[in-house]
Amino acid sequence: MKIAVCVKPVPDAAEIRVNDQNMLVRDGLPLIMNPSDESAIEAALRLKGDGEVCLVTMGNLTAGNVLKGLLAHGVGRAVLVSDPAMAGSDTFATAKTLYKALIYLGGFDLILCGRRAIDSETGQVPPELAVFLGIPFVTNVTCLELNGKRCLKCDRLLETGEETLILTPPALVSLCEYSYPLRPASLFSMKNAQAKKIMILDMKALGQSAEECGLAGSPTRVRQMNLNEAQLRSGDCEADARAGARKLAEMVMAVAASEYSPKKLPPRKNTADSVLSQERIRRKKILIIAEDTSQDTLSLCAAGSALSYDMESCVILLANTGTDAELFFMAGADKVWVFDVPELPPDDSAIARAIADFVRKLSTEMYGQSSVEAILVSATTRGRAIAPALAAEMGTGLTADCCSLSMADNGLLVQTRPAYASRLSAEIVCERDRPQMASVRPGIFQAALLDESRHGKPEYLPFTGICRIKRDSFRLFTGAGHLRNADIVLAAGKGIGSREAFTWLGEIASETGSALAASRSAVDMGYAPYSCQVGQTGVVVRPKLYIACGISGSVQHLAGMSGAEKVVAINTDPRAPIFDYADFGIIADWQDVMEIFLNEYQSL
Ligand SMILES: Cc1cc2nc3c(=O)[nH]c(=O)nc-3n(C[C@H](O)[C@H](O)[C@H](O)COP(=O)(O)OP(=O)(O)OC[C@H]3O[C@@H](n4cnc5c(N)ncnc54)[C@H](O)[C@@H]3O)c2cc1C
Repeated sequence: MKIAVCVKPVPDAAEIRVNDQNMLVRDGLPLIMNPSDESAIEAALRLKGDGEVCLVTMGNLTAGNVLKGLLAHGVGRAVLVSDPAMAGSDTFATAKTLYKALIYLGGFDLILCGRRAIDSETGQVPPELAVFLGIPFVTNVTCLELNGKRCLKCDRLLETGEETLILTPPALVSLCEYSYPLRPASLFSMKNAQAKKIMILDMKALGQSAEECGLAGSPTRVRQMNLNEAQLRSGDCEADARAGARKLAEMVMAVAASEYSPKKLPPRKNTADSVLSQERIRRKKILIIAEDTSQDTLSLCAAGSALSYDMESCVILLANTGTDAELFFMAGADKVWVFDVPELPPDDSAIARAIADFVRKLSTEMYGQSSVEAILVSATTRGRAIAPALAAEMGTGLTADCCSLSMADNGLLVQTRPAYASRLSAEIVCERDRPQMASVRPGIFQAALLDESRHGKPEYLPFTGICRIKRDSFRLFTGAGHLRNADIVLAAGKGIGSREAFTWLGEIASETGSALAASRSAVDMGYAPYSCQVGQTGVVVRPKLYIACGISGSVQHLAGMSGAEKVVAINTDPRAPIFDYADFGIIADWQDVMEIFLNEYQSL
């Protein structure tokens, strides 16, 4: 098989700095290999058979040096796409340039990428590249194998479980970190690699014009960068395990008592015909793409509808979930369209194309020639795959994983998102192109207040996309709750010391209605599965209570849990950095604390 692997050498988040003008200081930053790219390279080496593996990276000459190092791991050739005019490319311009490079290099059966680069953390280039190449793609893959002679089988990690998908090359797959640890390089191969030449492709070789690449070819622009210092909490510390465990039990009980039940919320639908105010039926639209009718999606609809009173707020629900679709009217939507399919199809490129076709139709006479000014998508795993594919279909910019949105009077959507393990936040705008697109972090908006007086009838649309990916099976995660949506997260670090200890923590999690999580070191040690990993290269959680057992508090771990309402840290080392980020610290052995905690909790 002929395989291209797109890689990106990245700066280490722990090393980043911002200057007096709030600009990122890039000079002198040591580059490391992006962890998920390493998985992609190793997966390619295992799959290639008699074929070849070609690494492609876009960057400056320093990135070329990293490529040289990678040749020593058994890769056939490496290509550096580099030109001063390419500086400042956003994901759209990067994907366009990589697309041209892959076409220049000849056809590939398979394109592999890491699921996300740890500097910008967008994960947008792989889906955008697949759309430009006109091939199907799967993101967030933990296992990729041949299935018979012509097909590929892969496991995609989702919030609620893992599914096995079947697809036929040519295709693009993006891999999760640590799925395939990169094989070591021998001294001999390192020597050989130094002698190999790296091919360099510039703008001219790719037939690109200056308008197509770099800042000029980028729909989005970073307006400002700010250093995030808000994570410090430094709450009380307790050195007595018993007293600490008792307080922890009270905190867990308090969360359980305040537990929100979604069933309490939505008022039932009103069956009368639409009585929506005609006044709000205007030609400019803001479109919310909904995977489901969950509380997070309804909140996104409410927040999107409130962004601008000059725009009509519309929802496309991607699967027919029954009468629930009407809840979007109560959450603020003026129009709701539903794709008439029983469940979300597995092929994200087909979904993106179907949405794009419909959005184009909206600007025809049939729909009053309205213009779609902005599109919002929930930044779930599937949302973060569908959104970039849609942006590429529409030829527009997209900002990933936004934590805040506002709309200026001139209709410019100001999008704020974290970067570099949440150490920075960037304010991004898309001035030139429309629609302006953002994927929005689930859970950042308050629960939607449903207005029973607003009601309407959804319109059902045939699903026009052609699916090139088949779902083979789905395995639902079991346990005390799904990590991303859990109110209480019980997290294990390397300090718990064994796989058995993690199993025991799992029992405590079940008993207390918590979800189980882990640090990367706990995953590396084999105590916990990767699906539990919280942090820069794992899951981002925002529970009401995060309990860190035997976790030191690295920058990369904090990136995944610093949004928790309350943090409790249990660590034997009083100097562990996690205590600076905890509301309550217990300086004691985690096992002693958890044993007492369990007794206290059961007796409360
Ligand atoms: C590119 C990159 C990406 C990364 N992504 C992530 C990520 O997504 N998530 C992540 O977590 N890390 C990530 N890391 C790794 C990160 O840098 C740290 O190495 C990791 O978070 C440390 O995990 P830990 O706190 O469990 O282990 P350690 O740092 O080894 O800490 C273990 C702690 O346990 C305490 N301890 C020991 N025994 C006990 C006991 N009996 N009771 C109580 N406490 C005890 C110790 O005092 C110590 O503080 C990444 C690193 C890189 C370079």
